[in-house]
Amino acid sequence: MDFTIKNVLIPTVDSYTTADVRVEKGAIAAIAPGLDAIGIQINGQNKLLLPGFFNAHTHSSEMWQRGIMSMLPLELWLAELYDFAALDLEKVYLSALATAVETLLSGGTSLVDHLVLIPAQELETIAAAVRAYKEVGIRAFVAPLIQDESLTAGIPSGGIKQNHEPYFRSTQATLALVEEAVKQFHRPDEGISILVAPTGIQLCSDALFEGCIELSQKYNLCRHSHLLETKAQQKLAQEKYGCTAVTHLQRLGYLDARTTLAHCVHLRDSDITILSETQSTVVHNPLSNLRLGSGIAPILKYRRAGINVTFGCDGASSNDSQDLLEAIKIGSILHNVTELDYRYWITPRQAVEMASTGGAKGLNVADRLGSLEIGKKADLVMYDLTNLSLLPRTDPIGLLVLGRPHNVVDSIWVNGKQIVADGKVTTIDVNNLRQELFNRSQWQEGQRFSPTVGEIEFHYRCVMGL
Ligand SMILES: [Zn+2]
Repeated sequence: MDFTIKNVLIPTVDSYTTADVRVEKGAIAAIAPGLDAIGIQINGQNKLLLPGFFNAHTHSSEMWQRGIMSMLPLELWLAELYDFAALDLEKVYLSALATAVETLLSGGTSLVDHLVLIPAQELETIAAAVRAYKEVGIRAFVAPLIQDESLTAGIPSGGIKQNHEPYFRSTQATLALVEEAVKQFHRPDEGISILVAPTGIQLCSDALFEGCIELSQKYNLCRHSHLLETKAQQKLAQEKYGCTAVTHLQRLGYLDARTTLAHCVHLRDSDITILSETQSTVVHNPLSNLRLGSGIAPILKYRRAGINVTFGCDGASSNDSQDLLEAIKIGSILHNVTELDYRYWITPRQAVEMASTGGAKGLNVADRLGSLEIGKKADLVMYDLTNLSLLPRTDPIGLLVLGRPHNVVDSIWVNGKQIVADGKVTTIDVNNLRQELFNRSQWQEGQRFSPTVGEIEFHYRCVMGL
């Protein structure tokens, strides 16, 4: 449906201007003051229009465990998550809906769901998430999370001989599954893209990475992985390959302009050069890095090296929300404590660019998404500048990024279709979603005990010198 937003505030290079924005056939057709209103006329007065942001790394089904996970580092946290995150297809569907809604209402119009698959119901899991995203109308990059090694293989051995259970599904079967998912669900023009997404070097063989590279080339798919989130993974890479994880992935040919890498906390300077040369994108997940004690990713170094950086919330059980504006705020100002030279600090406008253009670049859609330009798809977010949290009137983007904005999203369009109006999602019944989340959960009573954490904690502490 065509529409014209009248008199809306839009950012210029270093200021703002009031203009009309006309959208035709799902794309931005004109931006100028005093345009003839074509289609529906929307009042943009006292509102700010920005391109939609990307929640460039999350795991939707972790929603069910948010607020309850123990204070543990990633490797032990993951063990606890495995023990308690029993999923069914309805839960996958509901948590995908909720992840989409929370992403939208914090300024995101696209998300990358590194989707945990239910064993033996893998394609059904993907179908459930895809159904949710289509219903909400958010643009979704669904990245089925795959691995071919079992959990304990992700912890460095420290020179002590380890016996790991073989993973329950073969590498070939896993790759076949991803290919089938591509055939069934990869429809970029309809807002659903499938990514190849081996979870990371800690749990994936070279054969799995190589198979993913092949699929990526065959079907023109983006690539998505975790990379060097923890110190333990840095040690593990040395044990496994005798070189850094980044060097190894480069040798395999996994890194390129379509590759987005979540976390990137523990990289050496030589690794940074490789990411820059291969034009890989770093997805900064500051909140989960803090929550799991993983460290502070050297984002300012990456930016100085010319590496494209964007933001993610990461899964809700290591965050424990899906508030993209919160991730953008923390992900920007966190680095002021690591860099004395304030000229490198991330400004609010740079943060907005990272969250929009940066996400689009990483997902190979920068020609269609990520900025307010004629010809680009209309993935737009309009913020209400009369909301208490955005007052008094100062610098709208400054306050949006550095303040504590809440309920500030007035309207959202994805591909020119309105899916949020007057601050409410119009495509699904959010009250009903709340009721379903309530009904399928309960308040936690007493302490939980994770048997897997019990099994591996001693070894973990030894290896990490604790
Ligand atoms: Zn993750």
